[in-house]
Amino acid sequence: MNIKILSRNSDLYSTKRLVEAAEKRKHQVEVIDHLKCDLVIEKRKPSIVYKGESLTEVDAIIPRIGASVTFYGTAVVRQFEMMGAFSTVDSEALIRSRDKLRSLQVLSKAKIGLPKTVFTNYSRDVEGVINRVGGTPLVVKLLEGTQGLGVVLAETKNAAKSVIEAFNGLKARVIVQEFIKEAKGADVRVFIVDGHVVGAMKRQGKEGEFRSNLHQGGKAEVIELSDDEEIAAIRAAKAMKLGVAGVDMLQSSRGPLILEVNSSPGLEGIEKATGKDIAKTIIRYIEKNV
Ligand code: ADP
Repeated sequence: MNIKILSRNSDLYSTKRLVEAAEKRKHQVEVIDHLKCDLVIEKRKPSIVYKGESLTEVDAIIPRIGASVTFYGTAVVRQFEMMGAFSTVDSEALIRSRDKLRSLQVLSKAKIGLPKTVFTNYSRDVEGVINRVGGTPLVVKLLEGTQGLGVVLAETKNAAKSVIEAFNGLKARVIVQEFIKEAKGADVRVFIVDGHVVGAMKRQGKEGEFRSNLHQGGKAEVIELSDDEEIAAIRAAKAMKLGVAGVDMLQSSRGPLILEVNSSPGLEGIEKATGKDIAKTIIRYIEKNV
């Protein structure tokens, strides 16, 4: 098969591992930079020009699109789909997953456990917003944040008010969320491929940090999921229509609560924590679908 990996940097762990796994299974594989693709749109003959040449007969693509280039990256994915290539991430699902609020709405409709969340159009009734998530402590999240940046824990009502008003004043959109104390600064990342759990790890934030993101100094270890956690992760990926997904959840006293479903989950943390060849699983998923 002819497989293209859409990635801006062929030295990244995930990109390298996917190339390795595709080559091992005797596929023709190439890394292309989606930002350097020109899209040619005409009647019934969509094509992509890359480095002066038309890309033809691409069987499948693996998009690794960063959050900052979602708009253009998704256009490239859509163009490949129009050309008949199989994508491990559907372009519509990719767009949907990048919108935190829309994702929470989709998950809520699918009756999946979530932390109680409020979103407003810069409401002046900040106290009302705070009360609606059950008071403080609470978490304020920038709608556009990634890797734990723009996620703030407010312990008191005064702190919560100041943070929300500051973001409102900057016209930065935020969601306000109940703080899940029982999670104790940890979250669980479940890696899903084709509706199956292929790996799971628990990430623990460094001492005194409620955010468990590895980018914020968190540590990961392999974990055995409960049945409820496994079911929640599979349902979340399905609701978001993602064939490959990284589902993040908090362990709460009322069961698993989904934080986010990632459409370009990194392989490094999960492969190192679990010792599993997840890149190979993704290539096999493509083989099944092409
Ligand atoms: P990002 O998308 O920037 O990673 P998240 O919503 O995943 O933002 O939050 C980052 C981290 O903060 C999570 O991995 C989790 O450890 C912690 N966290 C987020 N929301 C809550 C919450 N409501 N209660 C407790 N901890 C939370």
